[in-house]
Amino acid sequence: MCYFQQTRWSCGWWKWGHFKQQCSKEYRTGETCGMKLVFETTFEGDICKVCKDIEKKQRKWNKLSSDITRWRQEGNRKATIEKAEKDLDDVEKSVLELNEKHYQKVHEEI
Ligand SMILES: [Zn+2]
Ligand SMILES: [Zn+2]
Repeated sequence: MCYFQQTRWSCGWWKWGHFKQQCSKEYRTGETCGMKLVFETTFEGDICKVCKDIEKKQRKWNKLSSDITRWRQEGNRKATIEKAEKDLDDVEKSVLELNEKHYQKVHEEI
């Protein structure tokens, strides 16, 4: 079990940083053993990149869905609406995927 720097964001997302210290087991070989332990955690006050991406996609989703509502009232926008509905589906799917990815990461056992 070797020691690594760790960064943790306010939303719980984290990543490994630089290698810091070897455990006694691997001391002689000069390599790390593959098991990681936290040497020190650096806290970021901000949310992570994935959260920012989710927020951006949610804003896009809101805009698309209000556009669709408006176009339906205007009429004569069938093709535009169909395309926007497809985009809406895609955005929704990727938000779900990102949320799942984030959940897994935050709940991962170190
Ligand atoms: Zn080790
Ligand atoms: Zn996050």
